[in-house]
Amino acid sequence: MSFRPITEAFLASPQLSVADVNRAASEGVRSIICARPDGEEAGQTPSAEIEQAARCRGLDFAYIPVRAGTPPDDDQVARMRAALERMSAPVLGYCRSGMRAVTLWGLAETGKMPSAAILEAARKAGVDLSGIAPRLEAAGVGPGRPPVSGRRFDVVIAGGGAAGLATAASLLRRRPSLSVAIIEPSDKHYYQPGWTFVGGGVFQAAQTVRDEEHLIPSKAQWIRQAVAGFDPESREVRLQDGSVIGYGVLVVALGISLNWSAIEGLEDALGHDGVTSNYRYDLAPYTFRLASGLSRGRALFTQPPMPIKCAGAPQKALYLSCDLWRRRGVLGQIDVSFDTATPALFGVAAFVPALTRYIERYGVHLTLRSKLVAVDGPRRTATFEQETGAGKIRIERDYDMLHVVPPQVAPEAVRNSALAGADGFVAVDPVTLRHTTFTDVFALGDVAGTSNAKTAAAVRKQAPVVAVNVLATLDGKAPPAVYDGYGACPLTVERGRIVLAEFVYGGRPMPTFPKLIQNNLEPSRFAWFLKERVMPPLYWDAMLRGREPLAAPDVKATV
Ligand code: FAD
Repeated sequence: MSFRPITEAFLASPQLSVADVNRAASEGVRSIICARPDGEEAGQTPSAEIEQAARCRGLDFAYIPVRAGTPPDDDQVARMRAALERMSAPVLGYCRSGMRAVTLWGLAETGKMPSAAILEAARKAGVDLSGIAPRLEAAGVGPGRPPVSGRRFDVVIAGGGAAGLATAASLLRRRPSLSVAIIEPSDKHYYQPGWTFVGGGVFQAAQTVRDEEHLIPSKAQWIRQAVAGFDPESREVRLQDGSVIGYGVLVVALGISLNWSAIEGLEDALGHDGVTSNYRYDLAPYTFRLASGLSRGRALFTQPPMPIKCAGAPQKALYLSCDLWRRRGVLGQIDVSFDTATPALFGVAAFVPALTRYIERYGVHLTLRSKLVAVDGPRRTATFEQETGAGKIRIERDYDMLHVVPPQVAPEAVRNSALAGADGFVAVDPVTLRHTTFTDVFALGDVAGTSNAKTAAAVRKQAPVVAVNVLATLDGKAPPAVYDGYGACPLTVERGRIVLAEFVYGGRPMPTFPKLIQNNLEPSRFAWFLKERVMPPLYWDAMLRGREPLAAPDVKATV
């Protein structure tokens, strides 16, 4: 029987007998932890006997059983941490082989030791903990965690949202041996396309959120931090704790920032006194509450200047609210306006006629080139700046319900870096999504400085393209996969019907289905079915897992 020292304070052992306990005590062990459930195999000494023998020799004892083949859960790790803190060292942990004891120890040490040091200490004792490396890395973040400076990965993905997760999954499906790190501070991931349905009372908010840790691919390392900046010359990403991560290839997927403060008074007004937005998880339910409670008065819906994510979402909130009022028979008593800072109702002309019919059907006052600039919550007034032939004018209007979509800008870490183009977004080639200057940098999703619609639908097509091109770059080849600018916007014009705007670069309509099945220029029940029933599982179970139905990348034959 060998007691393997992992550190000075912790040793590991296979199953102990009573004789082993006596020997451990003679060799200076002060405490014993059993990580094995009783009765796993015939002849196994019960933990109660080990405990009794330990206590007889003045040793402390703890029983934290972990089932064979299952990683310790958070509760078991917390109990291990508490035991290690309470017990006198050296502590001897045991299970059938010692593996579970060392795994528990490693997870309990996160936050105290760098994950690399935990892995190395275990390795020296002959225990391979690489299977829990992502968990060690993720849990290791927090107060007291030493910076992970000096670490380098084949691929570093900045941002673990729709685009970051989809790209990581796509890369690892294609090449499982790749070392991939995802830098993402949030422990929650949101299915933002579902927020329109939350605001329309079709989904519950809880249906649109999941724990990030369950979405990070198991072979990727999660670095739970925010990116502070990029140094593409030295191929490094700076994190908010001051540490630095090196990369072979960088994928930027930080999304787009919502600039609520750009509208005076808005931040104070949000969430009460009739002011809401489907652009926030916590506020989307308030949209439905407000619309459900309104029977007369004035409702204002707004859209800021482009670029914004899902340019149809401001209208979706409008139409679903109007349809609710129509069904309740109160639409005629509500004065509804839609003010958009854009020069047209929708950026792709082909879809405007169908949408205009709904504007007319609901009796909406549509004002183009009109921008919300201030909100006075207590007075319930909104100020708009309108462009007219005679110049800009300011108009103040009161409201009972105000649905706001915030102005949106490139994330600060990108805006202030060498990666940014003139508009602040990452300057990439629109076809390969590779940076126009730094050939080992790619960007996709809302942060990319491309002219496609900023949508999850675009991400679904972009992620496989970026994955293929990243691997080619690592192999020293030219990026062979091409992106055509596909984006899609399911405009929920009434409950049960959607105008499914799908288009590629240049605003050219590009339907997925033949016209016989789905006419994209008209509202359809089939498109609603897709949005309600097909898109959520397609997002969670396919796109974020690297499965790519109808999204296989187009690869240049010549390369
Ligand atoms: P996100 O998914 O937003 O992810 C960005 C990630 O970067 C986040 O996890 C964030 O925490 C992280 N991050 C930010 N800053 C940092 C930093 N400094 N360091 C590290 N990480 C950072 N799309 C559709 O296809 N169809 C729809 O019907 C649709 N409807 C929508 C309705 C609404 C109300 C909204 C808000 C969006 C909608 N979208 C829709 C758009 C879609 O959600 C986005 O286009 C998509 O999520 C973009 O993915 P992304 O990864 O680029 O950004």
